[in-house]
Amino acid sequence: MARRPMVAGNWKLNKTIPEALALVTELKNALASVRDVDIVVAPPFTALWAVHERLVGTNIGLSAQEIFFEDAGAFTGKVSGPMVKDAGCAYAIVGHSERRQHFHETIETSNKRVRAALKAGLMPILCVGETLDDRQKNNTTKVVAEQLDGGIAGLSLDDLKRTIIAYEPVWAIGTGHVATPKQAQEVHGMIRDRLRSRDTAMADAMRILYGGSVKPDNAHDLNEEPDIDGSLVGGASLKAADFIAIVRATRGTH
Ligand code: PEP
Repeated sequence: MARRPMVAGNWKLNKTIPEALALVTELKNALASVRDVDIVVAPPFTALWAVHERLVGTNIGLSAQEIFFEDAGAFTGKVSGPMVKDAGCAYAIVGHSERRQHFHETIETSNKRVRAALKAGLMPILCVGETLDDRQKNNTTKVVAEQLDGGIAGLSLDDLKRTIIAYEPVWAIGTGHVATPKQAQEVHGMIRDRLRSRDTAMADAMRILYGGSVKPDNAHDLNEEPDIDGSLVGGASLKAADFIAIVRATRGTH
């Protein structure tokens, strides 16, 4: 089944507002003619509105890097789904491994965030992935399956149709050690099979992105795999030329 690939750039803790506008202006000019890939950027909260205004009417969508699961209240420092939706976001990244590692994100709180995103009218991009230790102990399937099952627990079929999964092996993130296409495909295939036990049509339509040291020179081969539907890009999304090259390398792979 043909799935529309997506390339999403996670800018993490980078870019002031002027820097964000400069980057996104280059992207929108270079990628204006791309119609066969969903292109998404995830700037820091402070730059969301400015970037949104710059992107109105373009083919580039906006994502938050994270949201809290409560909509409003006495939660100093938090930002909610309705707030980022209001700032122009259509997507929210949930459960990134850096949030699991540094900010006490768990399977349960990821699930709450996925639900909060959907409730706010956002499409969650749920990240799952094993550590090097998990992989070396042959626990990849178990760990990824737990994060997947727990992350989407309680979602209706309609919710799942608006959800995107990103397989991001922790050992590949920011390390330059990209998973081989075969390694990535094995896990992507397992994820899709698991989703099939819920509903075949939904599983066949679900976008499963790969993330972890995606670069212009490996994006094409990864996306040639049958169950890889684009990428979640960290470091290389900060350089316009690299991100543009990754989007171009993804075209025509599905
Ligand atoms: C990420 O942070 O989601 C990521 C995949 O980072 P990088 O591309 O730098 O490995």
